[in-house]
Amino acid sequence: MSTDYEALLTQVTEAALDYMGGLDDRPVFPSPEAIRALQNLNEALPEDPRDPARVVALLNNVAAPATVASTGGRYFGFVIGGCLPAPLAANWLATVWDQNAGLWTCSPASAEIEAIACRWLLDLLDLPRDAAAGLVTGATMASFSSLAAARATLYKRQGWDVAEMGLRDAPALKIVAGEEIHGSLTKSIRLLGFGRNDIIWVPTDDNGALKADALPDLDENTLVLLQAGNINSGAFDPIAEVCERARDTGAWVHVDGAFGLWARVSATRRHLAEGMELADSWAVDGHKWLNVPYDSAAFFCRDAQATEEVLTMDGTYLVKNAKAREPSHFTPELSRRARGLEIWAAIKSLGRSGIEEMIDRTCDHARTFAEELSAAGFEVLNEVVLNQVSLHYKDDETTQAIVDAVQREGTCFLSPSTWKGKRTLRISVCSWATTDADVAATVAALIAASRRFG
Ligand SMILES: *Cc1c(COP(=O)(O)O)cnc(C)c1O
Repeated sequence: MSTDYEALLTQVTEAALDYMGGLDDRPVFPSPEAIRALQNLNEALPEDPRDPARVVALLNNVAAPATVASTGGRYFGFVIGGCLPAPLAANWLATVWDQNAGLWTCSPASAEIEAIACRWLLDLLDLPRDAAAGLVTGATMASFSSLAAARATLYKRQGWDVAEMGLRDAPALKIVAGEEIHGSLTKSIRLLGFGRNDIIWVPTDDNGALKADALPDLDENTLVLLQAGNINSGAFDPIAEVCERARDTGAWVHVDGAFGLWARVSATRRHLAEGMELADSWAVDGHKWLNVPYDSAAFFCRDAQATEEVLTMDGTYLVKNAKAREPSHFTPELSRRARGLEIWAAIKSLGRSGIEEMIDRTCDHARTFAEELSAAGFEVLNEVVLNQVSLHYKDDETTQAIVDAVQREGTCFLSPSTWKGKRTLRISVCSWATTDADVAATVAALIAASRRFG
C-alpha cells in the first residue's frame, strides 16, 4: 500500500497553522460542548482499515477544539510552558526519523546531539561540567533518577550494596525536607522504598522557603531534599547555606529546580539560586521554562560514576560503544524518544542571551500582574521573586468564584490553589508566547470578574 505522504503531511501542516492562527480567538480552556464531542471517538473497536488522511482529519476535527490552549500566550495554570518554534519543528523531524534514543547504536544522531544538549545545559545552568546528565520525561523522573543514585551512594558508605542486597534489612537513612517540597519528591521517595514517615520535615518561612536554622544535624547517612522555586511563591530554599552545612558531613543534597533552576541564566535573578552548584544532584524541566514540547526534563548528578552504576543496564545483545556516551546508562528507561533534539534546537535557536531574555521577560510579566492586580484590590500573598504570583480576593469563596468565572469566560486560564491556609488564584508565567497584550487582557478579565463578585 502506498501512502500519499505529501497530501497527509500537507493536511497536518495546514491544520497546525490553522490551530496556531486561531489561538487568540478561542477560549483557553475548551468548552463543555467540545469536551462532550470527544465521545464521538468513543466507538466500538474498528474492525477494518481506514485511509490515514481521514483518520487524521477526524482526530483534528474532534480533538483540536477540545485541547487546552496552553501553547498560546494566556495560559497561566500550574507551571506550564509553551513551545518555541525551533523545538516544535525539531520534534516533527524527530518523529519522522522515529529514532530510538536509548542506545548509541540505535541512533548515533540522537546520542551525539543529546550529549551536546546535556553539555550545553550544564554550561547554561552553571553546574559542574563533569556531572552525569540524563534526559527524562519530567522533573518527577529527574528527581527519581537522582535519588536512586543518592540512595545507592549513601548506602554504599554504610557498607550496604543495595543493588546486591536490596532494601530488606538495609540500614536507616535520614531524609530531610522542607515542609513545602513538591509532591513529586515524596512520590519519588515512596517509589524508592521509603515512606513518608522516613522524612524529617523542616518548617518554612512566610514565602515557603525552608528555615535553615531549623535544620536537624546532617551526617553521611542524610539525604536533603531542597527546592529551587516553590510552585506558589517561586521561593528558593537557602541552598547555599544548607550546602555549606552539608559539605563536610557527607550528606547528599538534591535540588528540585523544575522551573527555578532557570533563574541561574538570568543576571538579575541568579542571586536566588546562588550556591546551588554545591549540591549533589539537580532536577530541571525542559517542558516548563525552556519551552520545548512535552515531555522533557533533565537531571544532573555530581558523582557521574555512581549515577552510571545505578542506571546502567546489561544485556548480552547490547552493543557497547566504549568511546561514546551510552544514553541508557543515564536514564531509568531503555527505549525512548529523542527529546535531546528539541533541547538542542531550543538552545541553538535562542542562545544564552535569548534564554536569559525569555526568563527575564516572563518574570517581568509576573511582576506586572502583581502590581496591577494589587492596585485593583487583590491581595498578593507572596513575595514575587520569580514567575509565580499567588493572589487572594476578599475571602476563599470569592477567590474560588473568580477562578471559576475566569476559566469559564475563556480569556485566560489560571489555577486555584491553597497556600498558607488561604484559597488562592495562582498565576504562573512560563511561556515564551506571552505578550504585554496578553498580560493586559488577563488583568482586565480578572478585574472584571472581581467586580462581579466583589
Ligand atoms: C512541575 C514541578 C515538578 C514536577 O515536574 P513534572 O515535569 O510534572 O514531572 C516538580 N517540582 C516542581 C517544583 C515543579 O514545579
